[in-house]
Amino acid sequence: MLHRIPTQTLGPRGETMAEAVTRCVHCGFCLPTCPTYDLLGDEADSPRGRIFLMKEVLEGNLPAEQAAPHIDRCLGCVSCQTSCPSGVPYGDLISSYRASHQVVTSRSLFARIRRRIASWTVPYPRRFAWAMRLGIWSGRLTALAPKGLRPLVELLPASLPDPEPPPEISAAVGTARTEVMLHIGCAAQVLNPSITSAAIRVMNQAGVTVRVPRDQVCCGALHWHIGSADRAAKLATRNLAAFGDADVPIVTTAAGCGSGMHEYALILKGEPQESRGADFAHRVTDFSVLLERFELPPMATSRPIRIAYHDACHLAHAQRVRQPPRDLLLRIEGVTLVELVDPEFCCGSAGTYNIDQPEIAAQLGRRKAQAIIDSDCEAVALGNIGCQVQIEQHLRQLGSSIPVLHVAQILDLALQGRLESITPAIP
Ligand code: SF4
Ligand code: SF4
Repeated sequence: MLHRIPTQTLGPRGETMAEAVTRCVHCGFCLPTCPTYDLLGDEADSPRGRIFLMKEVLEGNLPAEQAAPHIDRCLGCVSCQTSCPSGVPYGDLISSYRASHQVVTSRSLFARIRRRIASWTVPYPRRFAWAMRLGIWSGRLTALAPKGLRPLVELLPASLPDPEPPPEISAAVGTARTEVMLHIGCAAQVLNPSITSAAIRVMNQAGVTVRVPRDQVCCGALHWHIGSADRAAKLATRNLAAFGDADVPIVTTAAGCGSGMHEYALILKGEPQESRGADFAHRVTDFSVLLERFELPPMATSRPIRIAYHDACHLAHAQRVRQPPRDLLLRIEGVTLVELVDPEFCCGSAGTYNIDQPEIAAQLGRRKAQAIIDSDCEAVALGNIGCQVQIEQHLRQLGSSIPVLHVAQILDLALQGRLESITPAIP
């Protein structure tokens, strides 16, 4: 069955799409920065090609099914947005298109079930923890697991703690300089809750009191980026209520969540809460951006340590945050920063991409892990839980034991004088 969807049926989000589509001048500057074009070499799997395909579908010249495999292969890394001289808002375009065409996909029934399971479990820490425990159990039988489930099973950690939210209030150490609200995310609570506790301790040391609103929920980015616009809008609305309207920064340690919450005005476009969504988005701040404004106690290592910083796409491209995490790491006396080859190239994590496009995700993960090994670093720092899991998995598959840590974890260890413990001294 063909799905011909005229532009005028797209509703408010269609205006964003129409504007973005017409702004592309087909110059091709974005092509070398697109991971899928680099791997597949097909114009239809490039930003320019996808914009053309979306335009053709919107104008009713192409059945949406023909565009779907290429749209589905887009990582949403928005590297193309960074390199576009015409300012095409590709991220808004692809998210809006997916929201309007969620029924039209190139996925198999099994892939759709996997994706549905992910959207039922990942945003809800307790459900996710149970699903992961089941996965860990079945991981012992990985060889027997259905082929389509293996990429998911291989990502699982060896064991899993219970997801417990951090205290509702953690007071600043010494003189309180400011107060923030923390969005704790859902995947991080299950996969690596120590990121949140480390971030709270570091903010407290910087004189920041941290409040964790109890009624907060998943940011909705996962649903938004797979085209479940209604579910994303519901989650966004619940977060508006949980965080209130006071002009208090909303801090996140996950690049994906930060990027998703920056899109609340678009997610709620046409809804009564649209302007509240825009106000909420203005308050959202990455952990590194907030902390850069404050002094921390002196930090030093007893020996020099080389750390590579990995730019998460949803920090570097979507939020244009590149320097603050690097500057924070350089505050630790003894730390040298090592730059990676193609530092802003996606690691292949990208939300549910690992599940939907396991072959491309694995190629990108291997490439990133090899770049890290080749850099001769002793540790990797980053700002996104998805990248952490993906990079760690691929480093281990390549036989490397290089530790992969969130910037907050590195600062926390440095403040405790224990940063050397993450890796044995390399002569
Ligand atoms: S760089 Fe921008 S304007 Fe040029 S082809 Fe890519 S999206 Fe279009
Ligand atoms: S978002 Fe990433 S994968 Fe998608 S077209 Fe842009 S650069 Fe390519």
